[in-house]
Amino acid sequence: MKPETAAIHTLNLVKSATGDVTIPISLSTTFFRDETGGYPGGHMYSRVSNPNRDALEKVISVLEHGAETCAFSSGNTAGMAVFQALKPGSHIIAPDDMYWGFKKQLQSIFEDTLTLDFIDLTDLSKVENYINPNTVMIWAETPSNPLLKITDIAELGKICKKNNLIFAVDSTFASPILQNPILLGADIVMHSTTKYIGGHSDVLGGSLTTAATNDFWAKIRNIQQIGGAVPSPFDCFLLLRSLKTLAYRMKGHCENASKLAQHLEKHPKIEAVYYPGLSSHPQHEIVKKQMSGFGGMLSILVKGDAQNARNVVNTVKIFAQATSLGGVESLIEHRASVEGPETKTPQNLIRISVGLEHIDDLIADIDQALNVV
Ligand SMILES: *Cc1c(COP(=O)(O)O)cnc(C)c1O
Repeated sequence: MKPETAAIHTLNLVKSATGDVTIPISLSTTFFRDETGGYPGGHMYSRVSNPNRDALEKVISVLEHGAETCAFSSGNTAGMAVFQALKPGSHIIAPDDMYWGFKKQLQSIFEDTLTLDFIDLTDLSKVENYINPNTVMIWAETPSNPLLKITDIAELGKICKKNNLIFAVDSTFASPILQNPILLGADIVMHSTTKYIGGHSDVLGGSLTTAATNDFWAKIRNIQQIGGAVPSPFDCFLLLRSLKTLAYRMKGHCENASKLAQHLEKHPKIEAVYYPGLSSHPQHEIVKKQMSGFGGMLSILVKGDAQNARNVVNTVKIFAQATSLGGVESLIEHRASVEGPETKTPQNLIRISVGLEHIDDLIADIDQALNVV
């Protein structure tokens, strides 16, 4: 099945006893045992598994072409489960512009147990120089935040395979519709389901999908079930509902972002536009190879300084000035002030999550804001 169909019908292939066409929310935390002590319904206790989480994990596995998925209560706990599953003393290679929440986890929570190199994963020629006998994993994030840098997944996959390393990809910005890292050689794909999969800025969640069920995956499943950072049945219900429109929402996000990027690239008040769909993007050829669309995220440099950028985000009326991404509403933010004083993000950078409003309204809004800077 194509993703549009799979997102809607994966669960309908097995008819429920009650004949529901959409899956009901199963709130019970505990499940009946039979005379032999078994669990005839397949569930024991809802931290370990429950019908809504099983359903969510199944649909994400199908869309990502993976063997299994673990759903978590946030993107951060999904990523953390991967780092927790590594033996103390392990060395990880991660991108220099890794999602700041993960960088913070690695540098604080895992400070005494893991060793790290944050490197530029747009240039794969030097990656092998950083591999040492303790290296166990390369973590990539593509497209990256906030500069929309691209890592060649298939090429990095070859390097990981050759050196026997686990290859994990944070594919949040792409969603399972635009990019499937497992098909390109990744072992684990991570999503903050809070973003495009949820798509309506009203549910927090994360997921990990594995290419194969192996010992490393068993550790992650154990961290999910025994660690217990799991999404509620209602969270899973909302995510399943959202998944059904994901493919169509992504088409809209891509179309709007692409038009906005082209418009802003020509705007006299704009110094630079970072969008993977522009032919000026330095990794545009790689993007075309590994993504079926260019996504809904873009960043711009406003001519001038931090104040000029802040003036723009303070003057727009339709774009909501807020962090996060992937929702139906367009969001805009001055990124450096979110990331704090140590950030390397340019002070005049604005990150935009392009939503599903009419593009003419979005362009008119940003133009009136750029007029005042
Ligand atoms: C938001 C985000 C995360 C973290 O997810 P939460 O759901 O906020 O915990 C991880 N990676 C990327 C790329 C993100 O955008």
